[in-house]
Amino acid sequence: MTYRNYPQSLPTQKGDSVSLKHPINFKCAKKCASLCCTGATLLAAKEIKGLYKVFPITVGFRKYTPVNEEHLLLLDDFGTNMGGFYIVGDFIAGNWRNNRCIALSDNNTCSLHTAGLKPLQCSLVPFCALYPESIQHLIIEQQKRETYSDCLGFKGNDETVWQGGIFVNQALKDAFVGYQRALREQKEFMQRLLRAMRGSDGYRAFLAGRGILETAIPVFLYNDLFMLIGIQEEETSSLIESQIRVMEDRTREDKNESVFNDALRELRKIKSLRSNDV
Ligand code: SF4
Ligand code: SF4
Repeated sequence: MTYRNYPQSLPTQKGDSVSLKHPINFKCAKKCASLCCTGATLLAAKEIKGLYKVFPITVGFRKYTPVNEEHLLLLDDFGTNMGGFYIVGDFIAGNWRNNRCIALSDNNTCSLHTAGLKPLQCSLVPFCALYPESIQHLIIEQQKRETYSDCLGFKGNDETVWQGGIFVNQALKDAFVGYQRALREQKEFMQRLLRAMRGSDGYRAFLAGRGILETAIPVFLYNDLFMLIGIQEEETSSLIESQIRVMEDRTREDKNESVFNDALRELRKIKSLRSNDV
C-alpha cells in the first residue's frame, strides 16, 4: 500500500450518491504491484510481531476531515479530535519516500504473501479502513482518478466486491474489520505519542499544513508497544536487536533520513537501559 498517497479528504457526501447503487468490481491483478507496493505499508500493532525483522517501524500521524456523521463517529473511535478534523496515528512499515516496498520481490510479487504475513492494509487496497464501509465508493472514485488510475484490478473483471454500502467479498471485509479493530486498540498509544510531540517544530508545521507527521517510537513508550504487539518478555530483546539492524540498513542507504536516525538513537537508548537493569 502506498502510504504517502493514503486518501485524507474526500468530497463531502450529499445524500445517497448515485454510485452507491452501483456495485464495485475489483480483483487484484498483482502484476502491476509496482504501482501500489511503493516504499511503505501500514501495520496493525499485532502484525509487528511477525514483521519486525523485515521492516523499519515508525509512526505516522495524518489529519482527516469527517465526510459525514458516520465518518465523524468512526474517527472519534480512532483518533484525536482537533475540532473540525481528527489526527489518527498508524504504524508505518518501510520508507514511504521510496518507490518500492522492501518486501516486493524481483518478479513483482509480495514475498510475505505465501508466508501468510501480508499486512491487512495490503489486502485491503485500494479500499481504505479510515472511512466507513458505506462510503467506500467515494474512496474508489478518488483512487481511480489518482494513485490507482492504472490499476488493472478494475479493468475487465466482473467480480463484485462491494455493493449497496457493504463489502460482499469476505477477504476484503475481514481486512477492513481487522484494520479498524487495530486502530481502536492503538488509539491510546497513539494519543500518548501525539501528546509527547506537542510543542515540537514538526508538530506545529504538521498542524499548519497537510502531509504526514512521522516519528520514531520514543523509549518511554516501548513497554506499551510490547503490550500492544502482544510479545512475551523473552522476545523483546530480539525485537530491539532486529529493529536496530533494519534501521542501520536504512540509514546506510540514506544518511539524511532523520526519522530512522532518531529511531536508532531511541533503540540504542532502550537497549542500554535494559542492559543496565540486568
Ligand atoms: S491490481 Fe491494483 S491493487 Fe492490485 S497490484 Fe495492480 S495496482 Fe495494485
Ligand atoms: S508488504 Fe507486500 S503487498 Fe504490502 S506493499 Fe509490501 S510487497 Fe506490497
